[in-house]
Amino acid sequence: MRAAVFKEVGQPMVVETVADPTPEANELVVKVGYCGICGTDLHSTREGAATVPCDSILGHEFCGEVVETGSALKTKWQIGDRVTSLPFIACGKCALCVEGRPFECLQLKVTGLEVPGGFAEYVKTGDSETLKLPDELLMEDAALIEPLAVGLHAVRVAELKAGDRALVIGGGPVGLAVALWARFFGARDVLVSELAEQRVALATQLGATGTLTPGETLGEAFLDDSGAPPDVIFECVGAPGLIQECIDLAPRRGRIIPVGVCEQPDNFMPFLALVKELRIQFAIAYTRDDFETVIAMMAQGRIDARAMVTDVVSLDEMPAAFEALRNPSHQCKVLTRFD
Ligand SMILES: [Zn+2]
Ligand SMILES: [Zn+2]
Repeated sequence: MRAAVFKEVGQPMVVETVADPTPEANELVVKVGYCGICGTDLHSTREGAATVPCDSILGHEFCGEVVETGSALKTKWQIGDRVTSLPFIACGKCALCVEGRPFECLQLKVTGLEVPGGFAEYVKTGDSETLKLPDELLMEDAALIEPLAVGLHAVRVAELKAGDRALVIGGGPVGLAVALWARFFGARDVLVSELAEQRVALATQLGATGTLTPGETLGEAFLDDSGAPPDVIFECVGAPGLIQECIDLAPRRGRIIPVGVCEQPDNFMPFLALVKELRIQFAIAYTRDDFETVIAMMAQGRIDARAMVTDVVSLDEMPAAFEALRNPSHQCKVLTRFD
């Protein structure tokens, strides 16, 4: 099969021919329809603690069609089933897997990091992580299930209630997905702090009730707009200094949900957080139920995140599109399409 293969830091991926995947008894092989590029992919291909090894195939936001079933799955899955998958191959048997929390499984392998991912014509998925797509759901929309599940998970972790005032710091795909779900769950205000013009426009399209300019006046601007400080602050950038900024902005007993991926040491002063009795709760990934909920809401037409997709590229165009995302201009979510 053809795949985009990571070679080394600083070099674009190379599209080359690699061996087709072969499924274990409890695995499927999926012919990839679409695979989205994620901020995590950018992180894992630059110098740092999380750099993937040479010859890795990334991609964890994929959907497609079953083309081969493992020996134990012949009756459960049909060739041609339209699917997506949590990007994990876990044991499928432990209590956490059975509960739908494969991310917490001790035998977890992450697709697109530890096992080959979806920037390839075919990808292997685990039986218990794979989910069928309803007929109403278009394949190109299904590539957004994973990023939307990240947002849903964060909003669930925040225990956001109808009437809450929410501040979302950062209008990238994660911030936009958070804004969409915050609105869905009835937040009274969903204010997104973002500088990039294109993303400001997208935020409003995807559910923000307003947008704010990041910086020193953010707290005041939120107050002006909303009449009270934010009950919940989602930090969707992942840069040093932002947790302190959230602590400064939060009211007493406010909730701070860091969702952005920050790989550098960060400092904050606990005292103010202590005085305010803040809750700082990190949120990562998703459960199987997060995926299922996204799928159900998309299939029923109750959420629409298509505006997030700014570019659709072929596999051959993908390495250049991937590099361009390191310094995005107009791009938000970029999908690779396979024919
Ligand atoms: Zn992702
Ligand atoms: Zn398990």
